[in-house]
Parts: sequence; C-alpha cells; structure tokens
Amino acid sequence: MGWGSFSRSAVKALAAGTLHYTGLQGVLSRASRFAVGGRRVLILSYHRVVADFEAEARRVIPGLLVSRRTFERHLDELAHGGYDVVTLDEALEVIAGRRQGRRDVAVLTFDDGYHDVFEHAFPVLARRGATATVYLATGLVGTRQRFLHDRLYHLLLLSMGGEHRSGRNVLALESMGARAASAVDRLLSTRSTGELTDLVEQLEQSVGAVNEVAPTAGEILGWDQVRRMASAGIDFGAHTVRHMVLTHETEGTIERELADSKQAIERETGRPVRHFAYPNGYYDRRVVTALVRLGYHSAVTTEDRPNHVGGDPFRLRRKTLWENFSRGPFGYSSSLTSCHLDDVFTVLSLTRPVRGERFGGPRGPSHRAEVKTPGAEEERPGASA
Ligand SMILES: [Zn+2]
Repeated sequence: MGWGSFSRSAVKALAAGTLHYTGLQGVLSRASRFAVGGRRVLILSYHRVVADFEAEARRVIPGLLVSRRTFERHLDELAHGGYDVVTLDEALEVIAGRRQGRRDVAVLTFDDGYHDVFEHAFPVLARRGATATVYLATGLVGTRQRFLHDRLYHLLLLSMGGEHRSGRNVLALESMGARAASAVDRLLSTRSTGELTDLVEQLEQSVGAVNEVAPTAGEILGWDQVRRMASAGIDFGAHTVRHMVLTHETEGTIERELADSKQAIERETGRPVRHFAYPNGYYDRRVVTALVRLGYHSAVTTEDRPNHVGGDPFRLRRKTLWENFSRGPFGYSSSLTSCHLDDVFTVLSLTRPVRGERFGGPRGPSHRAEVKTPGAEEERPGASA
C-alpha cells in the first residue's frame, strides 16, 4: 500500500465515520433495501482465517486473509446491522421471492478449503450457532499440494527479492506483496490452469529450494475435518477439482470438473452438493448451462453488487472480505466495516464492482482485455481465487 491508497483509505474511514454518526448511513441502507425488493441478501466471501494477520501476510497473499479477531467483529457487525446469518438455501428462498424474512439475511462463504477455516473459523461459528458454506477444490483436499495462486505468489515474491523480507520495512513489503498479488490476478485471467501449472513447475525447478516465504505444506482441509464440519451443519459446495478457471477450458473439461468435484464431496460427506463457486469469479454461458444440467442449484461470483429478489441463482453476487477491508488509518474501524457491509461506497461510487462474466470461450479475445484500474488492489486485493 503506497501513499495513494493510504490517503484513499483515510478518506473512506472519514466518510464512514461521518455517515455512521450522522445517521445518513441508515437512510442509505433503507434506500438500498427498497431498491432490491424488500430484504437484503448479503453474501460474504472469505478465504482464510488466521491467528496472526501480520505474520501470515508476510508469507502468503494478504488479500485472502482475515484475522480471527476481525472475523468475530464482522459477525458482531452483521448482528448489530440487523442481519440474520442463514444458510445459502434459505437465502435462495428469499431471492426467489418464496420467503420474506423479518430481517435482512447474510450468508458466510469460504472459498478453496484452507485448513485454517477448520482451525479458526469453525470454532467461532460453532460457538455462535452460525452456519456457512465452504467451497472445496476437491483434488487438493487431504493432500499436501498447494494452490497454483499460492505457488505463483511465492515465485513472484522470490523474483522481487522477497526471500530477504525480514530485513525490509513494512511499506516496501506491502508494495511488493500488492505487486505480486496483482501479477497473480493478471496471469490467472489470461492463461489456462494447465499452462500456468507447467510454468510454475518449471520455475520451481529452476529456483530450487523452499525458503522462509513458502506457505507451509499441508495447508488444505482433510476429509475428516470436512466430515466433522458437515455433521455440525456446515454446508459444502464445489469449486472444481483442480481450482480451474473454467472460462479458459473446453466444454468437456468444464463438464468433468463440475461433475467430479460434486461427486467427490457427496461420496465423502454423504450429503447432496447443490452449490458452486466460480474459481477466480469467472464464468460464461457454457459453465452456467453445465451447472444447471448437472443439478446444481446456485453459483456464486465475486461481483460486489446487491442481490435482488428475482435475481439469477447462478450469478449470485458476493462481497469479498479481508483484513484491510475493516482497517482505517488507526486500526480496526467499526464504522468503516458497517459502511462496507451496507454498500455505502458502491452507492457513492467510490468502489467499482469487478465483472465476472467472460465472453468468447477459451482463447477468446476478452481474456486479454482485462485491464486493472490503478488502485484496484485496494478493493480487490489481488488473487481473488
Ligand atoms: Zn478459489
């Protein structure tokens, strides 16, 4: 984060405080509730929940992290803001117009299937009686493999001299991390998973040994943990087998990735799998058609817009959260968090939602047309995974 984004975050924190304490935020949230047709359906997207954000952010993609303490504060903020945390199935009933809740509803989702969801999020959820949907890339569950986005990020840090991170100052580290994360995003949006896997394997061989910034191996959930969470009411959805960005793939591969990941979770948990999360948030018509044919009920994007009553269950909008989402210039900010949850910055046009729909199929020109606006890392901190 450079001075540009520091001042932007300061402006937002100031705006948030003003809106919050003058009551204007309440007016804006009532207006947005009216605009979506009654009750709001807020779907939140997390990846990893960790004990120590600062320590983990030196090693892995910071935009995928939230500390356990901040995660708990988010849950407090939701309750305080008038949201009931419900299952995705219940939220889909509201979106379909078949159910009218007394309060707004929120759904918690976790993508990828990192082990720390079991270690840090699950105890918090269990204590509060809250539920969530966890989307698994089934081919990595129970293995010591690492996600391609984590391996790429690690290699990019190495190429920037990140192996000597301990001796650098915080601003230099943050800017290095932000550059690496947006490079990962760019690579994932332009190359297929197969191409990138080959590239990463070659680079890893040429670089050689693992070092201090390497993510710890075995960071993915095991099936026993998945079963324990499932029996406590956590819902599991699919996120492909190999975390494939499907818009780069052929129809045969799309079909196989969607069918095999669904079957694996159903076999291991004995429960039906109805929900899907698009890797990297990218989808196209072919993917949606295959999901419907295979019996899925919904799919989530990473488009940060409100969900409307009557909205498409295969284009569910989600708000991606991470640690800095709630950080003003002076640490955790409750008013900043609640303004984000209320979409105040989208209403005021301070945030531009990222589009997930891709056109043109594999190798289509749109994959190269993705252009990041300066400062986009702040809202979408890179490697949306
Ligand atoms: Zn993912």
